[in-house]
Amino acid sequence: MNVIDDLLANNRAFADSLPVLHLDVRPRRRLAVVTCMDSRLNVFAALGLADGEAHILRNAGGVITDDVIRSLAVSQRRLGTREVMLVHHTDCGMQSLTDDGFRAELQEATGVAPAFAIESFVDVDADVRQSILRVRRSVFVPYRESVRGFVYDVDTHLLREVHVDGRAARSRLR
Ligand SMILES: [Zn+2]
Repeated sequence: MNVIDDLLANNRAFADSLPVLHLDVRPRRRLAVVTCMDSRLNVFAALGLADGEAHILRNAGGVITDDVIRSLAVSQRRLGTREVMLVHHTDCGMQSLTDDGFRAELQEATGVAPAFAIESFVDVDADVRQSILRVRRSVFVPYRESVRGFVYDVDTHLLREVHVDGRAARSRLR
């Protein structure tokens, strides 16, 4: 039995434990969360979210790619969300590789240079700021005022906000 067969059994038990219930396709809290695929970050539990309350967009690093912008455009323009929460985290796998190194590895292994950017990073705060700016600068995302970025500590489970203008960094130095 492989892992997916285990999950199918889990799903039968899960469905049996719940009533049949139809929720609105529009997230109740009018929120979209963009975060990393990291297996230690249980987004619903960590943020106290329930089913039907928010869109959760995930990829390696929680990077604001064209596809994330596509999803945010649909989320805000068609499904009523208004706030965007970006959650990066400590000990991210994307900090363990470099753009050039991973690109070369892919090309060497396959003979094909990837068309996508790798988007590795070293400084997690700088990466959050970069992501906030990418959302704020996208013309396709109409509600850009309520974009906030955070770093989730995978050990303490606490969120720390990162400000684009460096206010937080300056206040820490005082
Ligand atoms: Zn990560």
